Amino acid sequence: MDPGPTDLGVVDPQQQQQRQRRPPSRYESQKRRDWNTFLQYLRSHRPPLSLARCSGAHVIEFLKYLDQFGKTKVHAPGCTYFGHPNPPGPCVCPLKQAWGSLDALVGRLRAAYEENDGLPESNPFGARAVGIYLREVKESQGRARGVPYQKKKTKKKKRKLLQDTAVGASIADDAAGASIGSSEAGEGSRAPPAGSSPAS
Ligand SMILES: [Zn+2]
Repeated sequence: MDPGPTDLGVVDPQQQQQRQRRPPSRYESQKRRDWNTFLQYLRSHRPPLSLARCSGAHVIEFLKYLDQFGKTKVHAPGCTYFGHPNPPGPCVCPLKQAWGSLDALVGRLRAAYEENDGLPESNPFGARAVGIYLREVKESQGRARGVPYQKKKTKKKKRKLLQDTAVGASIADDAAGASIGSSEAGEGSRAPPAGSSPAS
């Protein structure tokens, strides 16, 4: 008699536990880091802000706060390089978080909110205002950077976005420890950028 594969169809609790203990995927660990960053942002918020009272407007405030740690040059309308995807020289325009990073970040936080017992109908990351804000960022960055976000390129772009996102979010993570709320407290501003992400 053929004993057959014994590990099929039988749920061995020990095996299942091991499966759950497997190291989380890149997405999962990124999501956890993002969520912790956001919670830390809430903790340092002045005036105090609880997760339950968090609205779409607060999420937008958080996204704007993250811009200071961005690495994407977004040209002002008055800049010579406005609309140039690859400017030949430097300029004084600010660095911001790329739209793709913010979009992916909001997606992860939206999922994390519900995984942490938040109700879908009160999910601030799903708020209409947040969607509108992201669309505005997408359009204005597209114009400023000369990057048309065309639907045709979605497949290639998705892979690129994932890379961008991992970088952008780990910066946000570092930043959260360093200087959230420093404009008022003035303490965090002296802290060095906590552990720069390893070059990969
Ligand atoms: Zn510029």
